Amino acid sequence: MIIVMETGASQKDLERVLKKIRESQLTPVINKGEIYTVVALIGNEANKDLVPSDFEAMDGVKRVQRIQEPFHLASRTVHPELSEIEITPEIKIGSKNQLLIMSGPCSVEGEEQIVRTAKAIKSAGAQVLRGGAYKPRTAPRTFEGLKEQGLDFLVKAKEEVGTPIVTEIMDARDLDLMLKKGVDILQVGARNMQNYTLLDELGKVQKAILLKRGMSASIDEWLLAAERIMHGGNKRVILCERGIRSFDSKYTRNILDLSTIPVIRKLSHLPIVIDPSHGTGKSSFVESMSLAAVAAGADGLMIEVHPKPQEAWSDGPQCLNFEEFTQTMKKIKKLASTL
Ligand code: PEP
Ligand code: MN
Repeated sequence: MIIVMETGASQKDLERVLKKIRESQLTPVINKGEIYTVVALIGNEANKDLVPSDFEAMDGVKRVQRIQEPFHLASRTVHPELSEIEITPEIKIGSKNQLLIMSGPCSVEGEEQIVRTAKAIKSAGAQVLRGGAYKPRTAPRTFEGLKEQGLDFLVKAKEEVGTPIVTEIMDARDLDLMLKKGVDILQVGARNMQNYTLLDELGKVQKAILLKRGMSASIDEWLLAAERIMHGGNKRVILCERGIRSFDSKYTRNILDLSTIPVIRKLSHLPIVIDPSHGTGKSSFVESMSLAAVAAGADGLMIEVHPKPQEAWSDGPQCLNFEEFTQTMKKIKKLASTL
């Protein structure tokens, strides 16, 4: 961090700043220029919980500039090796592992639906089954998932078909149940990316967490949410871009920010997954965005698939049917094999 003092700052103002820096066991380096005095902080600020606003309100301070990224455990500067995250002993994501495909319906609707889908996505080449048992719905009185029964159906599909399962957790009170049932990846949905009490609880378990980007979250906020989980002790965080809100939602549900792939690769060692289903909201756009994500170097994709999208209880317009998914997977695998 660099602190630029006002031209009119007094010696007392400067001393107060230096005292604050020293109190955090950091070393200030003072650079007196012709016009401005600049104080640089030497040491690892991230370990000291120092933020620019700690200095910004102080008398005589003109501007504070961060040099170090605000996240630390998630940062590639600190941890240059790309992380590999184990989902099961056989299935891993990140680093040099093959592309991980997670697919299934938006919501678990029944045993037959989820078992059939698990079989279909597995034979098309997906490794992980997704399905929501607890659904975040904006309007009350809409379908909020089959809850515990939905988890049981997912587990049934996992046992019958042999696919690990990913499902959304909205409330830390459901964590024990999800772990007991055998959920392999806990998804934090876009709406809960900044639910800090939930993130803190997820930091205490050793399970892979799929952390979706909030719909209006900056990349720093998203990485800081990951940092929060990692700070608790759980380093198994997978980032998932699912589209952000912007000014134009006439043709796509969200703006799928594929530039997060190179940006995250540069900033962080954590794997990045793209969700073209929520990203576009339209099944006809899912294939092209999937291919674009693979070409850009994504570690995985999350694609919504339903036996009959037109009858889906949630997110039907963005779900692929089995045939569409199988065809899309052929193209994805072909492209991935050339990279
Ligand atoms: C989902 O995966 O079905 C979901 C609700 O996603 P998001 O949190 O990205 O809206
Ligand atoms: Mn959905």
